[in-house]
Amino acid sequence: METIAVDCPPVVDVAEAAGDIKKSVDKSVNGNTLDTHVDASKAIPYGVDVTADPALTGYYKVSDFEKLKEWMVRWFPSSTIPATIERSKILVLDLDDTLISYRIGASRDAYWHREGRSISFRPFLKLFLQAMCQYYAAVDIFTSSRAPYAEYVTREINEFIQEEGENYKIRRVFSRDDCIIDNGERRKDLIQTHGMPLSSIVLVDDDPYYSVLSQNNNVLHLPGWEKVNGDTWLIDSIPFLAHLSQCESIEREIEMFKKIWNKHEFVKTATSTMDNSANFPMYY
Ligand SMILES: [Mg+2]
Repeated sequence: METIAVDCPPVVDVAEAAGDIKKSVDKSVNGNTLDTHVDASKAIPYGVDVTADPALTGYYKVSDFEKLKEWMVRWFPSSTIPATIERSKILVLDLDDTLISYRIGASRDAYWHREGRSISFRPFLKLFLQAMCQYYAAVDIFTSSRAPYAEYVTREINEFIQEEGENYKIRRVFSRDDCIIDNGERRKDLIQTHGMPLSSIVLVDDDPYYSVLSQNNNVLHLPGWEKVNGDTWLIDSIPFLAHLSQCESIEREIEMFKKIWNKHEFVKTATSTMDNSANFPMYY
């Protein structure tokens, strides 16, 4: 296994930090329904029987994000954020529409706008990245956009999350040139970029079709940020991603969750990214 250089600073008191993050999550999602007494780690199998489902050998895609959110809040409320942390896994984040929104033209709430272009940060981006740097050995970007753009935006994000003196930052940026071409389409091949076991890496993306089919169990599909008022996806997913950071195998864990989500009927599967059939609705 390749040794991963970690730029994120060591955490001095992870228990205290986890407590702070939990308090921030509780405060920030005030108004959402949070069951603070559920311990998801003891609640396996997370609400439904887990059995092998041959339908889930292809790409999965969330078809009803509201149901996914209900499930996450039910089984992974902020009270499940672990206090003891082993930072051994890698979190890879898509950029556009997952963390930021880049638009031609002015935007009233833009963090940055210049020469007729603007960048807005998804709500709770700072808290999300601060939390992820606590739980993961490194947080990287992997975008299909071009490198100069991706590196520029990432510098802006790192500046943003450090503006109050935090020492957390995104470590590396992988971009269009790092994608492989498969069947004429760009894919984010985590083995090629990171050279580490799939048990130890997760990609968060608003388009799971960018993943390699054999790495689809390493993808958390979140909805793209469409600048809808009240978007809380980044903060809602913190406890779930914290859980993944501490599990034995991310690949096996998400495979299990896919089967559960399929039984709850809020994911769809497709054997090919070319499958645009009516029973597999597209969201992009
Ligand atoms: Mg995207």
